[in-house]
Amino acid sequence: MNIIFLGAPGSGKGTQAGAIIDRYGLASVSMGDMLRQAVSDNTSAGKTANEFMSAGKLVPDEIVVKIIEDRLAKSDCANGFLMDGFPRSIVQAKVLDEMLNRTNKKIDHVVFLDVKEEELVTRLKGRGRSDDTEETVRARLQVYRQNTEPLVEYYKSLSLLRHVDGAGDLDSIASRIANCLHNAFATS
Ligand code: AMP
Repeated sequence: MNIIFLGAPGSGKGTQAGAIIDRYGLASVSMGDMLRQAVSDNTSAGKTANEFMSAGKLVPDEIVVKIIEDRLAKSDCANGFLMDGFPRSIVQAKVLDEMLNRTNKKIDHVVFLDVKEEELVTRLKGRGRSDDTEETVRARLQVYRQNTEPLVEYYKSLSLLRHVDGAGDLDSIASRIANCLHNAFATS
């Protein structure tokens, strides 16, 4: 089972992904984490990525596509993965489709964590990550609306979208996701 978590910055993708990964034994494919690792390893991709991340902008496609390609080629992804933070644009989604096609894989479900903008801003400001300053938060939400939100319609048109209300406390959100995936796993 291959799953994508889709949602705005602050929607809880990363937090909720952890529980699902443990529960279903999926490989974790978190683009944000892989980029932060590249930054802390000070690789040349990491240095470039850092400039974009600290401005709240999307890291160039050639960097993120290479990272995702290398990650998906690892053996733990063969038994299913949960991808978080990729794709973040229609272009990336199409590149991913082609990449998976070539290796006879496919996405089974796209879980969309839907959270209202006011709640996102409150959550992001309280998080304290280095790219969570007010200015960067605003830039990231703008990038989300412009580049990433169109993926909701894209995956809906492919009948892959599973809508989950992402408001409220972590436990309620986790159980909504678990219910949605439980049904999905049961019928697959
Ligand atoms: P995240 O941890 O998913 O919020 O990602 C943190 C930052 O990494 C984002 O604000 C972007 O600057 C960068 N990033 C993460 N995923 C991608 C992606 N798929 N494409 C481009 N940049 C990304």
